[in-house]
Amino acid sequence: MTERGLETRQFGHRARLALSPTDIVKADAQAHAARTMWNCLHAWWQMMPKNKRTLANADAAIRQARRDIDFLAVLPAQAAQAALKTYFQAWKNCWDGRADAPNFKGRFRSVMSVDIPQGRDLNVVRVHRRWGMVNIPKLGRVRFRWTKDLPVGKHANKENRITGARLVRDALGWHIAFRVMTLDPEPEPHQGPEAGIDVGVTVPLALSDGKTYEHGEWLTDKEQAKLLGLEQRAAQRKQHRKPGEKTSRRLQHTYDQIAGLRAKAKRRALDWQHQTTTAIARTYGTVVVEALTITNMVKSAKGTADKPGKNVAQKTGLNRSISGEAWGRTVTLLKYKTARYGGILHKVPAPGTSQRCSACGLTTPGSRENQAVFVCKNPDCGWSGNADHNAARNILYLYRIGHVAIPAAGRRSRQARRRVKPATAR
Ligand SMILES: [Zn+2]
Repeated sequence: MTERGLETRQFGHRARLALSPTDIVKADAQAHAARTMWNCLHAWWQMMPKNKRTLANADAAIRQARRDIDFLAVLPAQAAQAALKTYFQAWKNCWDGRADAPNFKGRFRSVMSVDIPQGRDLNVVRVHRRWGMVNIPKLGRVRFRWTKDLPVGKHANKENRITGARLVRDALGWHIAFRVMTLDPEPEPHQGPEAGIDVGVTVPLALSDGKTYEHGEWLTDKEQAKLLGLEQRAAQRKQHRKPGEKTSRRLQHTYDQIAGLRAKAKRRALDWQHQTTTAIARTYGTVVVEALTITNMVKSAKGTADKPGKNVAQKTGLNRSISGEAWGRTVTLLKYKTARYGGILHKVPAPGTSQRCSACGLTTPGSRENQAVFVCKNPDCGWSGNADHNAARNILYLYRIGHVAIPAAGRRSRQARRRVKPATAR
């Protein structure tokens, strides 16, 4: 075995927090304060003349606000500083063309979150096979589900440690997202076979060697029936509400239940994606995907009033299935997972891969009989098979003849350093 170098790896890990009802109220208050802090900063920014918009001035304004506004004091000082940093980063992202200009954060539109920027404040300890304990500023010691080995206690050192965290609330309650840094041995180059992958219409993922990865419905029949019932109930209650009337507690409860079920479906989809991409990265040394521009594909098919779109209904269905499969995220997952297992991910520009025959390479009209079946109309060929499988074979072929667009990721030596927008400012 040859001696391999070490490489630092940074990743996030999300765990569910076990908060008491009073702690939930406190965490909510912190998140609202963090949002208000952002909004105050944005108002301050708009008010200030350009030459006075400095970090030092903003910092002074934040300190003043924390003294003047009572409910802002519930936000730990570190979290307030993090909000400031994120806000300035958001402007940098905007100026570099990576994002839109920052805006006010609405109460119901934004995700509730609180930053804990410094890892050493967390003091994470594993207390049980299934539970860990973490220190949360102004909340105290809180238990969380231990589902991954984190570098804590005597396993923590300069290179392997938790560098920070963020509290995030979703429909299932409060979670903690740890930022973890580790130093791992560089993986051996993966000797596995090559595979082209197509985002299928009939199957979620079709591979060039004929393997497919499929999944059932994300919700069981019972859950789907429950969701439908809840949605109908919510619609009915909403209909009987007088204009301007406050959302009733009951209706709010129904909304929460709906959000809970949808979040459940989302989590199951993510879990499937993780399992599938891990299996692919383990099996194949080279993975080739189509360089798709999803944003163009899912852009509204409706068109404008003057110029209505064609096949609106079909496209809407397709849009839903594409967005549902979240192809972009599959590629992101594959990118880092192939790299971790010593493999490599390539993207090929692939227009017409679903129309071309993968056996003879000709595009003949009418070959794609329907969404599922491909039958080559070239009289000398006549290859037939699953349409998604055909496209996957084309993608792999394009890679083999050197049609690689972007070396998306891979072994460290070949990986181009790219500036990536930090997660805090997204
Ligand atoms: Zn053919």
